Amino acid sequence: MARDVMCTVENCKFWENRNCTASAIEVNVDGGGHKAGYTAETNCQTFVAANKG
Ligand code: SF4
Repeated sequence: MARDVMCTVENCKFWENRNCTASAIEVNVDGGGHKAGYTAETNCQTFVAANKG
């Protein structure tokens, strides 16, 4: 279970007040592989665009 996951992706449906409300998240390396060189090479696969309606 994801706990105390801070996030800046405010257009994700799991985002609330700078925190992630998903029960779990998956984070992968941009472009595949298993080693990131820096922060921006990681990304959240659990992201779902928030409904704009
Ligand atoms: S699912 Fe990922 S992108 Fe969405 S709020 Fe949680 S950590 Fe952020």
